[in-house]
Amino acid sequence: MKIITKEEFMKKTVSAGVSAEAFGGTETLPDMSNYGGVKFNCGCGSKHKIKETRATTYIPKKHYIILCPDLTCMNYVKFNFFSTETIFASDKC
Ligand SMILES: [Zn+2]
Repeated sequence: MKIITKEEFMKKTVSAGVSAEAFGGTETLPDMSNYGGVKFNCGCGSKHKIKETRATTYIPKKHYIILCPDLTCMNYVKFNFFSTETIFASDKC
């Protein structure tokens, strides 16, 4: 996992197809219930369960932006069948 600045994070995710509105919460969030028990590596150094997270934004090809439950950072996470891979995270939220 790579830690990048928030500005860089926004740039990268917008170029990956996330609209600015998605960050404002106007986009429908995906149903994450299938991933309830799955954890992801967070930029804060912990592992969190997906169901403990507050917000997610779906990007095509099973990539999600997931906020740290402690609101420390944002994570860009790729979902496989029963596992996750955090590609990069922001240094702040
Ligand atoms: Zn965290």
